[in-house]
Amino acid sequence: MSAPRRGKPPRHFSDLEPAERAAALAELGEKPFRARQLATQWFERLEDDPERMTDLPASSRRRIADALLPTLLTPVRSLTADGGRTVKTLWRLHDGALVESVLMRYKNRDTLCISSQAGCGMNCPFCATGQAGLTRNLSTAEIVEQVLAASRALARGEVAGGPGRVSNVVFMGMGEALANYRSAVAAVRRLTAPAPDGLGISARGVTMSTVGLVPAIDKFAAEGIAATLALSLHAPDDELRDELVPINQRWKVGEALDAARRYFEATGRRVSIEYALIRDVNDQAWRADRLGKLLNARGKGWVHVNPIPLNPTPGSKWTASDPAVERAFVAALEARGIPTTVRDTRGSDIDGACGQLAAVAPEQPRA
Ligand code: SAH
Repeated sequence: MSAPRRGKPPRHFSDLEPAERAAALAELGEKPFRARQLATQWFERLEDDPERMTDLPASSRRRIADALLPTLLTPVRSLTADGGRTVKTLWRLHDGALVESVLMRYKNRDTLCISSQAGCGMNCPFCATGQAGLTRNLSTAEIVEQVLAASRALARGEVAGGPGRVSNVVFMGMGEALANYRSAVAAVRRLTAPAPDGLGISARGVTMSTVGLVPAIDKFAAEGIAATLALSLHAPDDELRDELVPINQRWKVGEALDAARRYFEATGRRVSIEYALIRDVNDQAWRADRLGKLLNARGKGWVHVNPIPLNPTPGSKWTASDPAVERAFVAALEARGIPTTVRDTRGSDIDGACGQLAAVAPEQPRA
């Protein structure tokens, strides 16, 4: 099979800052105030059918849509679990690249896990996405469109559990978002801008997850967005982390934790430390204790730990920790006063849990 053509996605209305929108409409011969009407239709009413945008002149709708609302994501397949309350969608991008997003409905929130890149260049050996390497960065609009698609489906009552809205967005799908900094941060701005400029999702509901790209963490802290930062630590010692999260060879555990602490100081948002528990690899109580010490050395009340039972990935020899070992790991952190919550394994039965997104097209056999 020949490799699909890779290319820059077409420009889209969701790529544009509010200030750029009027100019884009003017280029089409439209009055600048049409920009706000279009934004209201697109981000607030969640309308994606140009013919229903009846406040726009009938003669202009098609032209505006052709120029500014090209289809960026085509659904290839959806898998559901939890009685339809977890939905993993595989999307095909304009150039054939594939990405996945996962909607998880809880009692008090609807969380969407989104992708920021097709593939990932970080090469963490326990993550399915990391195994395939990086295909390309997503554009801002390709990231935002994942959220819009879920928002539309929820608003229209198409997802089990009744009508709803996306309250939380986590950059925990495919890709290292901070390695696609401009697009990812512009997407956060679009998601959190009040309607009709954007989707009006609370910044507190947005979580940026990173392997620990220290300069990018500092830059993100300075953006003035009160999003949550999640640091994928997975080991408190450089020797093991060099292997589990290869970027550690560039920025060490101590440097990543210092950056996380600075993020807290700049934003006031408590940082999450993600720690996939891998049987007999990183799950020893002494490592939990070492982690607790490292966190306390940087202050109290600024951080919590999210152990994640390892989700299986094809071809990996690693497996999740024994439940008793997991409990001992949590107890060791709690003994040092670190708030700790084990993450649920939502979606694991549809390969939709953390680290399982590999975007395999249905016609291809799985390795
Ligand atoms: N590139 C970002 C987002 C990755 S996915 C980052 O590394 O933070 C979100 C989380 O799932 C990360 O903490 C990642 O390390 C973790 N993860 C990856 N593979 C996993 C697996 N097989 N089981 C459990 N968690 C995994």
